[in-house]
Amino acid sequence: PSQTLPEMLAASVATYGKKVALEFFGASTTYVELGDQVARAAEGLRRLGVRAGDRVALVLPNCPQHVVAFYAALRLGAIVIEHNPLYTARELRHQFEDHGARFAVVWDKLADTVADFPSDLALEHIVSVDITEAFPLGKRLALRLPVAKARQARAQLTAAPTSKRPSRWKALSTHGRLSKKHSGPRLDDIALLQYTSGTTGTPKGAILTHANLRANAMQGRAWVPGLHDGEETFYGVLPLFHAYGLTLCLTFAMSIGAKLVLFPKYDLDLVVTAAKKSPPTFLPAVPPIYDQLARAAARGTIDLTTVRFAISGAMSLPVATVDRWEQATGGLLVEGYGMTESSPVALGNPIGPSRRPGTVGVPFPSTEIRVVDPENPSVDRALGEAGELLLRGPQVFQGYWQRPADTADTLLPGGWLRTGDIATVSSDGFVTIVDRLKEIIITGGFNVAPSEVEDVLVSHPDIDAAAVVALPKPRGGEDVAAAIVVRDGVEIEPEAVRDFCKTRLAAYKVPRRIVVVDELPRSLIGKVLRREVRERLMS
Ligand code: ATP
Ligand code: MG
Repeated sequence: PSQTLPEMLAASVATYGKKVALEFFGASTTYVELGDQVARAAEGLRRLGVRAGDRVALVLPNCPQHVVAFYAALRLGAIVIEHNPLYTARELRHQFEDHGARFAVVWDKLADTVADFPSDLALEHIVSVDITEAFPLGKRLALRLPVAKARQARAQLTAAPTSKRPSRWKALSTHGRLSKKHSGPRLDDIALLQYTSGTTGTPKGAILTHANLRANAMQGRAWVPGLHDGEETFYGVLPLFHAYGLTLCLTFAMSIGAKLVLFPKYDLDLVVTAAKKSPPTFLPAVPPIYDQLARAAARGTIDLTTVRFAISGAMSLPVATVDRWEQATGGLLVEGYGMTESSPVALGNPIGPSRRPGTVGVPFPSTEIRVVDPENPSVDRALGEAGELLLRGPQVFQGYWQRPADTADTLLPGGWLRTGDIATVSSDGFVTIVDRLKEIIITGGFNVAPSEVEDVLVSHPDIDAAAVVALPKPRGGEDVAAAIVVRDGVEIEPEAVRDFCKTRLAAYKVPRRIVVVDELPRSLIGKVLRREVRERLMS
């Protein structure tokens, strides 16, 4: 049946009732309890004034209340907007300016920050959430509603121009006037404004419908063979405020009656502790996490032999990480590819012996791809030739929130999504991501894909991580430069690294400049921010 996200959850509540839906620091919530909490929270939000089509901002780490608030808002037909709670006040404020939500459900540590946002924002109600309520004491979790924190509403009422929201503003103190009906969402309604990671620029709000998100959960279901409904244990180490964690952990887990173990942030010790009580069977993550977990498993710190599905995405997965994981756990580690704009997963390796490390696999069910000339996307490239990857399928988004020009650039007629990534396709249909179009370096007329140079650098036994960027030359043009992180306790001469590269790369690809750094700047999900590396190397 074609269900909206809250309908999918309701179906699981009916089917899996007493099974554990969520676990957080050892405290568990069953599907029935989750269903009740969602209903209560929806009622609380409705009393606060949330109606179908309203935008509800969530500023929360992974915690049960995050899940409750997400489904409660959706149940009312409202639009959820996810935020990274570790963003600075300035970054958060920019996002609130962008989406203009009137309601926010906020981690209590940030409630004051959000309450201090300038009064010309549309924000009227803040629900503050104490996530420690769930900590080891095992107390029942309840979203406390309404804990609306008014931001000196009256002062702002007089300050705000009257043409803007005069009547709504007064709704702050009125919890009455309940309409009988919950105006539930329809499949084609917007469910989520999901900001992109901001790797190449300012994060953009991708508009995703219930149909988009449902499609991706169903496609994931078709992708993963041998799942046991009602029996799997998913590990939510990826943030739910990012498309990857939201779909591959949350909506996917809830659709098959899995137990979702939530982590407020990825931390090896937390995972080791949780695994003793609830061994993971399904673990979506990113390469740096697999790397650390594999080393811990190899040392005997954690048993990961229970993991039947380890799925990597968001950035390219080094073959060395695959080997390390598979040796330490005996299971397969497979790579997929996606972007926020495609809910997010669009391609994946077969989960089995035919997976191909180094590639991102084949298109998801009902997903089509093309490889085109980036200068002229109506012209397809010959098979095997590199070009920009285009995607089409039921998971492709509706456009960017209030960015018609970006939407027109990204969503082509016919429903094709421009990924901004350069890819090749093999004769048997496996896709390899070369790099981001925007980050390809042009030096002396040649194109250099930073990822190719990074792969060579990290194949050096003493180099742990590398980021390759273009640096402007004094007389015009660009040079290849690299920032490298060296293995603990090792000293390395940049000249020796250059020699290492020279035997493996054409001369024009060898970095002119190599700088040793302690750490690479990464996004919250672990992507290297080449933009920032470049700024640091230039300063
Ligand atoms: P922004 O769009 O704001 O610059 P972003 O593109 O990093 O940030 P996301 O939507 O989180 O935001 O990431 C999608 C991008 O991640 C893809 O376009 C691609 O560049 C990269 N990516 C995802 N999976 C893989 C993968 N398996 N291998 C290489 N790159 C990947
Ligand atoms: Mg992007």
